[in-house]
Amino acid sequence: MLLLSGNLFAQYDSVCVTQDSNAPDPAGVYSYATDSGTLALFPQRLFRIHFWVLLEDNDITDMDNPNYTGVTENDVLESIALINQAFNQFQLFFKYDGVSVINDSSLALLINEAGQTASCQIADWPNHTPYGQALSYINSQANNPDVVKPDMFNMYIMKQGICFGGVAFGNRKRQMVSKNGLTKLNVVHEIAHSLGLRHTRGGEGNDYDPGECEHVTRDETLLEDPNDSLVPYFNARTRGDYVVDTGAIPDFYPNTAPYNYDPATCSYIGDATDCQGSQYVIFPEDMMNAMGNAHDGDCTQAIFTFGQGIRMQETITGSSNLSAMLASDLSPLYEPYKGIYYNSGAPLPPEDNPLFQPGFTYEFVKCDGYYPQPSDYYDTSFYVNYLNIISNYDVNETNYNAITHPNHSAIRISQVGSTPRKCYDNNNALATKGMVTRFNDGVYNYNTTATEKNANEINDPNLINDLSPGLYIIRKDKPDGSIEEQPILKENNDD
Ligand SMILES: [Zn+2]
Repeated sequence: MLLLSGNLFAQYDSVCVTQDSNAPDPAGVYSYATDSGTLALFPQRLFRIHFWVLLEDNDITDMDNPNYTGVTENDVLESIALINQAFNQFQLFFKYDGVSVINDSSLALLINEAGQTASCQIADWPNHTPYGQALSYINSQANNPDVVKPDMFNMYIMKQGICFGGVAFGNRKRQMVSKNGLTKLNVVHEIAHSLGLRHTRGGEGNDYDPGECEHVTRDETLLEDPNDSLVPYFNARTRGDYVVDTGAIPDFYPNTAPYNYDPATCSYIGDATDCQGSQYVIFPEDMMNAMGNAHDGDCTQAIFTFGQGIRMQETITGSSNLSAMLASDLSPLYEPYKGIYYNSGAPLPPEDNPLFQPGFTYEFVKCDGYYPQPSDYYDTSFYVNYLNIISNYDVNETNYNAITHPNHSAIRISQVGSTPRKCYDNNNALATKGMVTRFNDGVYNYNTTATEKNANEINDPNLINDLSPGLYIIRKDKPDGSIEEQPILKENNDD
């Protein structure tokens, strides 16, 4: 009989099967620096991500169908927000490319048949495919845009993963997570693997070859004693996760000596040692690090050290696969992921509004200039009224349909920079109503006759032609709430 408590499911869902390489670092790629000054020298970099929802053969794949039960675009947007919130501190940005559904049971239901417990056997889950087979298939489809989008990260979302919850694969370009992991730390964790991070427990001292273990000491002056392998010496650059400011840690297990931690308080209470017998020195940040192993009790957080951030940036520089995927500039962050800009003609329905991905702090600032479509990303010559913020959205905004680009405004994204870009200043919209005011004395004074006009009347192309001679102001109320006023001097054109 299978014992499937909620807790056990949680554990199944969070195990990452990405293998830590114990190959030495390539020469000249990594600085092993751990300071914010080094980190600040790296450029802002942008990757695109496409999301793939993996469903069974007979599942409904139309996300707009009310009977659709898979991961929704809202879930995927929550995920892209989490990803950006985790990595933006390292000048790494991610643009949502969209979400697609793949109808294929052999991709949707996967199993880690080499998992830790007897219940990971394929006999117990006959409809599930060993995950390695699924990954090989996806990798083989690198030129098939219905399975792999070129030049970007591809994130696959399993309908069900048994005995594992995620993996990074495909030469750093692809990741897979479970449905639950999509909106948890798992997405961040797998992308960090793709960007060159190992597990912080990598090569822990107790279970593996002692030659692989990372020592506790961070005193770089302590060198190896060739005559006594138990004299502590510094090896953090070449063992474990090869990052100096993450502590050497064991493979945490809650309530299991000597790896104990308390999942309620997320504190380490074990008494394990490294392979030289040095007691681990484990701070809460080490427990909760995004690349640690403290999944139970949700202790793992989106915490990275400066050293990890620097290592990710340096991995991108040193990896031709990653460098080739980089966007040439940050302009995609200023493009809507869906929706269209109104140009002219009949008004567009609100559901066509251009929408921007969540996870950033947006300010839409009043701008002026003739831009019936948004201005070019590099053209910042338009006038900006910084005191007039038409709308703004917090980094934690959860009403994703609200993050749209109002007319007469430019976009400022505070995580990226202070310059407003893409002024959208369109005066083509038909008025919803209006007013014609005639100045009876032929000069601007208070002797006026005002006539209200409905939408048909105010938009009538013959409105001005049909006016009798005189001085007027024609007021048009636009659907976005703005008001346009046009002075007209109608001459006597009898001749
Ligand atoms: Zn992992």
